[in-house]
Amino acid sequence: MRDTSKHQGLRNQLANVLRAKGITDGKVLNAVREIPRHLFIDSSFEDHAYKDKAFPIAAEQTISQPYTVAFQTQTLEIKPNDKVLEIGTGSGYQTAVLLELKASVYTIERQHELFKKTSLFLPKLGYNPKKFIFGDGYKGLPSQAPFDKIIVTAGAPFVPKPLLSQLKVGGMLLIPVGDQTQMMTLFIRKSSKEFEKHELGDFAFVPMLEEKN
Ligand code: SAH
Repeated sequence: MRDTSKHQGLRNQLANVLRAKGITDGKVLNAVREIPRHLFIDSSFEDHAYKDKAFPIAAEQTISQPYTVAFQTQTLEIKPNDKVLEIGTGSGYQTAVLLELKASVYTIERQHELFKKTSLFLPKLGYNPKKFIFGDGYKGLPSQAPFDKIIVTAGAPFVPKPLLSQLKVGGMLLIPVGDQTQMMTLFIRKSSKEFEKHELGDFAFVPMLEEKN
């Protein structure tokens, strides 16, 4: 696993591209400058690592587009020690961004191959979530609830109720909702029963899958 000044230069450029697209949070841009994204994809495709594009990883899944990762992270206003639940560990890149911002992260993945691969890989880079969970994100993680923030990184056909109920009052759920394309939807818990909803634009994600198939 190698990181070089060439990679660092490409990351600085990527951070500039994201800033031009509207990412203004300096901590998020710094995380992009820090994390060696080329190590999260197959080394033969290294050239693609610092383009602002999604890219295939194992098990027919993708590493999210850097802009999408930065947008979701910025929207959630991650603070040190925020207790964050991530649905869709995938390559672990979004997880690494949350950890750079010093969140306390619980991350769930339903594909066993990815779960295994990423739970071995991230700690090697020094990224240590509180827990890697192999399981179904539709259920959330009741044993560790409530959370300050919940981030869903797969396209959900509907908003799973357990995720809303596992938020602290004042907490936020950010979830792309829809089939072909998804509306990035932010829910802010105002009280035990009230949620404020904001629609933040269209994105494209791989589907959040139900059950095993
Ligand atoms: N944050 C990841 C995104 C990966 S794509 C990254 O940047 O690499 C979305 C991920 O969600 C895939 O790994 C997919 O396997 C996972 N996923 C899909 N449905 C899920 C579910 N019900 N529960 C947990 N993870 C799920």
